[in-house]
Amino acid sequence: MLRLQNVQTYYGNIQALKDVTIDIEEGEIVTLIGANGAGKTTTLMSICGITPPRKGEIAFKGSRIHQLKPEQIVKLGICQVPEGRRIFPGMTVVENLEMGAFLRNDKAAIKGDLDMVFDLFPILEQRRTQLGGTLSGGEQQMLAISRALMARPRLLLLDEPSLGLAPLIIQQIFEIIKKINKENGTTIFLVEQNANQALKLADRGYVMENGRITLVDKASALLANDEVRKAYLGL
Ligand code: ATP
Repeated sequence: MLRLQNVQTYYGNIQALKDVTIDIEEGEIVTLIGANGAGKTTTLMSICGITPPRKGEIAFKGSRIHQLKPEQIVKLGICQVPEGRRIFPGMTVVENLEMGAFLRNDKAAIKGDLDMVFDLFPILEQRRTQLGGTLSGGEQQMLAISRALMARPRLLLLDEPSLGLAPLIIQQIFEIIKKINKENGTTIFLVEQNANQALKLADRGYVMENGRITLVDKASALLANDEVRKAYLGL
């Protein structure tokens, strides 16, 4: 469904991604793990067209997308939930969700999708008229995921959804990510520093170090890999 081939992305003269090759099949949950500054966020930003690669190729369903604008990429069905959630704090929950559907023309179906996200996260329905900025961290993460779902993505990119959240909330959010994958059939690419949780959830995983992919395997194999256990699981 998505293929990054020898992607090289720079910030000025600094090369953040070095020959990154990643394949994601339709229906999978794939995780990208790695330390702080490894290049995980840059990988997502490159897919979204925000920091396009200087070299290499990104293809979605067989078509090259690495020269498209971010909004064209969203229209193709790729949507990102950025790190730090970045919801609109001065807008209500419902207004935030409507912003997620901004690029859609099928206004009639949007109401049905609001019900779909309220089914996934009932707490958001209870808080529908509350301003985004007044929600708890976990609720803001739920809102950020829901806002992305309102764009009806086929591929959902999640950047560290567990960041700064309590363990119980993380568990809840990861369960819902699984549900979105199983019930909506949405393909998931999950960037995480919480390697243990991410590998337990994913089908396959990639490990990134200093802008390079150093390992790729089934998530269960990575969980059992000595190098991964030492470096990322603290075992
Ligand atoms: P984190 O978990 O901290 O978000 P990451 O794995 O997502 O880390 P990136 O944020 O992609 O890593 O950063 C990769 C490299 O690119 C780092 O060396 C970082 O300092 C650098 N970098 C990221 N954003 C910029 C920027 N806007 N300008 C210059 N360098 C940047």
